[in-house]
Amino acid sequence: MRKKIVAGNWKMNKTFAEGVELAREVNEYLRYKEGGEGVSVILGTPFIHLAKVAHNVTEPAIAVAAQNCATEKSGAYTGEISAEMVASTGAKHVILGHSERRNYYGETSEILVKKVARALENNLGIIFCVGEVLEERESGKHFEVVKAQLTEGLFNLSAEQFAHVVIAYEPVWAIGTGKTATPEQAQEMHAFIRSVVSTQYGQAVADETSILYGGSCNAKNADEIFSQPDVDGGLIGGASLKAADFFEIIKARARH
Ligand code: PEP
Repeated sequence: MRKKIVAGNWKMNKTFAEGVELAREVNEYLRYKEGGEGVSVILGTPFIHLAKVAHNVTEPAIAVAAQNCATEKSGAYTGEISAEMVASTGAKHVILGHSERRNYYGETSEILVKKVARALENNLGIIFCVGEVLEERESGKHFEVVKAQLTEGLFNLSAEQFAHVVIAYEPVWAIGTGKTATPEQAQEMHAFIRSVVSTQYGQAVADETSILYGGSCNAKNADEIFSQPDVDGGLIGGASLKAADFFEIIKARARH
């Protein structure tokens, strides 16, 4: 049975104190309120929050993720944070290949292959983001683009390594824009991604792969998106910054 996952991507938001408080609130919701049962919750915090948040959360359903890691193992790389350092904080996952990293920081598939390798060497689960920009969708290239991102970034992995990967489909035109893919568009792409994984690793692996939707998913639209059979959860940006909203999304995932 593949996992139901709701992951928050805080991006570059929240001071240290604010982030610690947000994590405390999410922890409290899961501890005291009903409705989130059976969902794995991941908090993708900025690097500086990782150790404290990982230490503070007590609910077993909650794990912590970094939003990036370095391509190199260690050494003279000023300003970089290695996968080993991430793992040493107690974080269990790392988000890689987010479109903001691909677009603003020039992360190519070649770079991502190295980051994926570093993450796996340090036993970090990977949330690997893929997704097309608007022009690619409008010109009918979205399947081709997503397939290339998967093939170039991940398909050098063995099936055993691939088991540590969660895929997040995030149409770039829907991220932070308030525009959401329709449930049908999400389902169509998720089913496509699963078929591509199946061709590479076999149906059993594809059936076990969690595929998350990301892109303006919120408390209002989460139900209809999560009702799709190949949508296993969400990667949530803006709506993960308020514990009450985030918990509504977690509950929506638990319902389906
Ligand atoms: C994201 O960037 O991962 C994301 C899904 O953002 P938002 O929910 O704000 O569109």
